[in-house]
Amino acid sequence: MDYLAKNRAWIELDVSCLKNNIELIRKVNNNIIAVVKANAYGHGIIEITSYLNKIGITFFAVATLDEGILLRKNNIKGNILILGYTSKENLKYVRKYNLIQTIIDFDYFNIIKDINFKINAHIKINTGMNRIGENYQNIKNIIDMYKNNNICIKGIYTHLCVSDSDRKNDITFTEKQLDNFNYVLNVLKENNINIGITHALNSYGIFNYQKYKYDYIRCGILMYGIKNNNSYLSKNIDLEPILKLKSRITSIRNINKNDSVSYGNTFVAKNKMKIASVSIGYADGIPRIVSNNYFVYVNNKKASVIGTICMDQLIIDITNIDANVGDEVLIIKDNEQLNILANNASTISYEILTNLHSRLPRIIIRK
Ligand SMILES: *Cc1c(COP(=O)(O)O)cnc(C)c1O
Repeated sequence: MDYLAKNRAWIELDVSCLKNNIELIRKVNNNIIAVVKANAYGHGIIEITSYLNKIGITFFAVATLDEGILLRKNNIKGNILILGYTSKENLKYVRKYNLIQTIIDFDYFNIIKDINFKINAHIKINTGMNRIGENYQNIKNIIDMYKNNNICIKGIYTHLCVSDSDRKNDITFTEKQLDNFNYVLNVLKENNINIGITHALNSYGIFNYQKYKYDYIRCGILMYGIKNNNSYLSKNIDLEPILKLKSRITSIRNINKNDSVSYGNTFVAKNKMKIASVSIGYADGIPRIVSNNYFVYVNNKKASVIGTICMDQLIIDITNIDANVGDEVLIIKDNEQLNILANNASTISYEILTNLHSRLPRIIIRK
């Protein structure tokens, strides 16, 4: 018998949605840097990047050196930008795997500048987020970085921190960030520096700040078709989520009034009930904090999660649902359900996605 990948809990990836999303994003700017850090936002970095390569995406951004190496070992073609820190000791691997390193700031540049081999790099500019990046005012430092022989600067970028907000202050702040970045670009041009490619807009920036144009866009969450809870998108765009998270019913039982359920007896039945165990738990990435405060779908009907969520299992109320052992359970079906999960867990959709554990098989269901 063939091995059944849809065994206990799994992620289904509808890559035709990914294609659709990319086409919509390409209408704004054809030059996409696909942000695939953190296992492609939990979707499965190899599954996603292989498909993106197939539909012509040739620029990726990852957070870590290891993610970059993993892509190369899986034959992913094109440019790969590491957005985060790489130690000087490991820069030889940036070269070996033909990756592009972000120059975090001038201090980092000074630590690495005497390497005796060539690497490609992009300079990060801090325009207000105050996380990483050389401060936009320090033009002399920025020009110095362009003049190193072994650190070959192929691009320059900044990052926005409130581009997904429609509050007046946040819009003013974002425009100031982009103006600061433009100031740097203009001074570099006046100094006849070959600046390489420019990029600044992340997902919400791409659509909320369309009047700002740079060579490339860096797209993460919206490429996956996920509209984040708490984020503001100025346009209605037909993005579709690629991912569905599914599991199965493994055991069904009837309980009586006053019977309790799961660890800690946090749920006590008020009446007779029919309940089912489902083979997915917090180790798969379902936040334990939504115990007694979430719902899933069984045969198109809503079923509440009752009792404490366990490491590998959770329990649901199927009193009014026709269901059998083996039936599929939809844990994350669409944007709306993911947003509710994120809200109930007091977090954002990004964190729910990146917590989806690697033990969940990623299954491509449509080509
Ligand atoms: C994660 C990240 C992105 C992508 O952000 P989204 O909001 O998911 O589009 C872009 N740029 C940098 C520097 C990032 O760290």
